[in-house]
Amino acid sequence: MSFATRDGREWTPEYLVSINNKKCIGCGRCFKVCGRDVMTLKGINEEGELVDLDNDEDDEIEKKIMVLNDQGACIGCGACARVCPADCQTHVSAAAKAA
Ligand code: SF4
Ligand code: SF4
Repeated sequence: MSFATRDGREWTPEYLVSINNKKCIGCGRCFKVCGRDVMTLKGINEEGELVDLDNDEDDEIEKKIMVLNDQGACIGCGACARVCPADCQTHVSAAAKAA
């Protein structure tokens, strides 16, 4: 499979496939630059469980982290990787996936 920009230059998408929840600082920068709703911000409670930030329960949020919400919607633009200050994302080349 080959990919191209509008005028036909070679372009290889780099899809976001995982976010390291130990390294992520929940800054939200990746979320802001992504136009595809691939990620969503969640909370980690005292028990270390993943919880919604707008939950009605009394879950004490210890930390916020970004998680994958709709991985299949990623177009591999790489914008999230460029803005992440914590080097916690893993991207996979479309060329590697197609091989
Ligand atoms: S590579 Fe682009 S489309 Fe995919 S998650 Fe990052 S910003 Fe969104
Ligand atoms: S930019 Fe990096 S550190 Fe910030 S929320 Fe996204 S994955 Fe986490």
